[in-house]
Amino acid sequence: SREIRLAARPQGWPGDDTFEIAEVTVGAPADGQVVVRNQYMSVDPYMRGRMNDVKSYTPPFQVGAPLDGSAIGEVVASASSTVPVGATVLHGFGWREYAAVDASKVRVVDPAAAPTLSAYLGVLGMTGLTAYVGLLDIAQFKEGDTVFVSGAAGAVGSIAGQIAKLRGAKRVIGSAGSAAKVTHLTGDLGFDAAFNYRDAPVRKQLREAAPDGIDVYFDNVGGDHLEAAIGSLNKYGRVALCGAIAHYNDTEPPAAPRNLALAIGKEINLRGYIVTNHGGRMPAFAADMAAWLREGKITWQETIVEGGIEAAPGAFLGLLRGANTGKMVVRL
Ligand code: NDP
Repeated sequence: SREIRLAARPQGWPGDDTFEIAEVTVGAPADGQVVVRNQYMSVDPYMRGRMNDVKSYTPPFQVGAPLDGSAIGEVVASASSTVPVGATVLHGFGWREYAAVDASKVRVVDPAAAPTLSAYLGVLGMTGLTAYVGLLDIAQFKEGDTVFVSGAAGAVGSIAGQIAKLRGAKRVIGSAGSAAKVTHLTGDLGFDAAFNYRDAPVRKQLREAAPDGIDVYFDNVGGDHLEAAIGSLNKYGRVALCGAIAHYNDTEPPAAPRNLALAIGKEINLRGYIVTNHGGRMPAFAADMAAWLREGKITWQETIVEGGIEAAPGAFLGLLRGANTGKMVVRL
């Protein structure tokens, strides 16, 4: 079995020398364990933060050790009384072809209950929940709000914008990094307006797309996007600080937002969150999302990278550059 290890901590952008592939033997499961043949693994922006040796809400990856992250696969050997061979399980030991995992740390899922197996890593899983919690709980979205979503063609952003529409937003505006993604937002996902942040300053493009201002900003990007949103937010505006991907590879603190003091007079509420601390919302999310999917009300896309475990580092680097539309997963 092969696994991907952290070869060296990146300074700035990761590269091929950040990763190494290694051959390991995954033997019979120890008592209470299962061996899983991973079928899909997730690549996620937060993994970049874990490559730095800093204290955070998740511990850093260790040099020379395998990376980890969400994966889904089939149990091929079991020494557990609760999880049998043949079960499909979600777990946290991605970046490897086979994983020996304590049965208590896997979640058995029904493959027939999802449109695709990989959906458990995206629209039905962590990224879908991130969109739901961020919009509804953190940003306190309410009917009639005008909403701006950055990273809008990505896994979280594409779902956040659509939930806002479904729940009665007055207007939903998205930003993304290519003309094709902008067309996808307005053409396929039902956004009212969208722009390519590479075309002109975000501040200017947001003003044009939302002449009456915005009430909610779902922030996946940080920096100049956050600054523009603060400028466009109406009184009592709310911001879900979900991510700041524009700055994950920076070696210096970001220059923006420079206008944070505007939040005082506008009485803006900026609130961060980490989805794993909101697991209590999973049942409500799962019920709503299952209904939306059944009724065809949510459009979701995946970028599935083929080529097996060797393709995983390239998939991760691609994610940071915007090579994906919707959720990026690797088929193992
Ligand atoms: P995405 O599917 O959105 O993929 C990342 C996207 O970021 C790329 O497709 C790219 O799209 C965009 N991007 C990259 N660089 C920049 C840049 N400089 N400026 C603007 N956009 C950029 O990933 P996810 O949906 O998984 O994650 C989205 C955000 O949500 C991330 O910030 C992530 O860290 C955060 N997150 C937070 C969680 C939480 O609990 N708070 C949980 C999960 C995710 P483009 O082509 O448009 O540039």
